[in-house]
Amino acid sequence: MNVVVDTATHQYQGDMKVVYTNKSPETLDKVFWHLFFNAFQPGSMMDVRSRSISDPDRRVGSRIVELPEDEWGWQRIESVKVNGKTVAFVEDGTILEVALPRALRPGKSVTFELEWKAQVPRQIRRSGWMNKEGVEYSMTQWYPKLCEFDHHGWHTNPYIGREFHGIWGNFNVHIHLPEGYGIGATGVKQSTTSAPLPTGLAGTIHHYKASNVIDFAWAADPDFIEETVDADGVTLRLIHKANAEIDSNWTLLADYAAKAMAYINEDIGPYMYPEYTVIQGGDGGMEYPMITLITGERSLRSLVGVTVHEMAHSWFQGMVATNESLHEWMDEGFTSWAESRCMASLFADPMKPDENPHKWAYASYINQNLSGNEEPLITHADHYKTNRAYGVGAYSKGEVLVEQLGAVMGTEVRDEAMRTYFKNWAFKHPGPNDFKREMERASGLELDWYFQYMMHTTDAVDYAVETVVNDEGTVTVEMSRRGGMPMPQDVTLTWEDGSVTRVHIPLVMMRGHRALAEGEILAADWPWVDVNYTLEVPSQGKLSAVTLDANGLQADVHRDNNAITFDLDREQEARQSN
Ligand SMILES: [Zn+2]
Repeated sequence: MNVVVDTATHQYQGDMKVVYTNKSPETLDKVFWHLFFNAFQPGSMMDVRSRSISDPDRRVGSRIVELPEDEWGWQRIESVKVNGKTVAFVEDGTILEVALPRALRPGKSVTFELEWKAQVPRQIRRSGWMNKEGVEYSMTQWYPKLCEFDHHGWHTNPYIGREFHGIWGNFNVHIHLPEGYGIGATGVKQSTTSAPLPTGLAGTIHHYKASNVIDFAWAADPDFIEETVDADGVTLRLIHKANAEIDSNWTLLADYAAKAMAYINEDIGPYMYPEYTVIQGGDGGMEYPMITLITGERSLRSLVGVTVHEMAHSWFQGMVATNESLHEWMDEGFTSWAESRCMASLFADPMKPDENPHKWAYASYINQNLSGNEEPLITHADHYKTNRAYGVGAYSKGEVLVEQLGAVMGTEVRDEAMRTYFKNWAFKHPGPNDFKREMERASGLELDWYFQYMMHTTDAVDYAVETVVNDEGTVTVEMSRRGGMPMPQDVTLTWEDGSVTRVHIPLVMMRGHRALAEGEILAADWPWVDVNYTLEVPSQGKLSAVTLDANGLQADVHRDNNAITFDLDREQEARQSN
């Protein structure tokens, strides 16, 4: 791909040659390409959507319809050749359709040559010219990008500003800019060559190569400065506009980012590319292969937080690359889960060793569930009724889904299973069932019910201790499932002297149970059809409390009914109830 940028008009001329191999078992008679920039013009689906949704993204709102024409975004295809022959094509909003003169059989390749002209839109969402921090070029979703054809068929979603799905490919890109621009991009820089631009201006051609990546992004600005550090064997580049107010935070960020890379390498699996770039640009934080664009004028903690989140995407968006439009929670949720663990390690608070790193995800999900506005996770990312329901579902409930598995299969087995999932599914576009099966193989449990409830319903976990009777040497605990979603239960009986008895109650439909802790009692399975359950445990004296889910792994939406506590000064024969 070659692009020549005219910075006076923020337009560029592009051409590319793509060798496309049909690795599917089906014969293809056409192919589709994304033309994302066409979303940034009045009347586009993205414009209409962002003006009609009840809770618009503040970065978009009505900004597209208000753009002057010289700040619109567009991509105009000038020619398409298939195996050297010019063919017809149809531009339909953000999608380009190209009919193949000869059907492409499984295993066969075809060569496309495209020429196009584009105008970089004023930076509104993710991509564009001149972001709010003055970065000139945030070049993401910027070139005609092949749509993915997979076992689900074609994915030609009109761009409305949300998630992506892409094909792995090898990129060889020449970016011709005026002299003096700093740049960062997906891939590894091969060379920098001086060459005049067509306007006669002195210019520089920046040449990058990237292998096995699902996208190619870059950013450029005349004021960029760069620091490079080694991060667990990966070259980490930090690039931002020289600015005395933020320079020191970015210098400190280098060390945190290097530690984060090492942590996630250990926690999930090895990062498989030679470089990673954190560059100032865009409108918040957005992940791309081998690079992230983040806004840079932040506190150190915020700078580290966004960097860790976007970096963690390298595993779930970049390498595993689930279709994030269909299964947004497998990208954003898993990424948020990994981010929370990494942040807890980077900012460990010795005063709060037991603090739950995922507490914000739980609180956000529970709050949304109780509001009545939750939408099921199977909703296509573009089609949630509100931005909030999408955000809480994808990020918070997705994070909860992974963390809460710890209550079902045990946290150590879950952690190991996440590593196995990454190892087995990197570069394979897994879906929910692939993930479920990894969790099942690791735990030996049947987990259909868990994924069915978490993905397809908005039923929540709410278990309660109803009554406790401590009488004649036996403690009788009456419990109930008040919420729609069944879960195995962990009961903790705390005695007067502070010692505890732990009991695990599996569900019948799990066909087994997680490993028990030392001394933990295994009680009879709880059939989901029965909302009530009676537990009997030998009494060890006076009780101070009976608690469900004491370690807080379950997203129980009413924790206030999870325990009955006793006033130790009073007799305990009396029936206590919640
Ligand atoms: Zn994310």
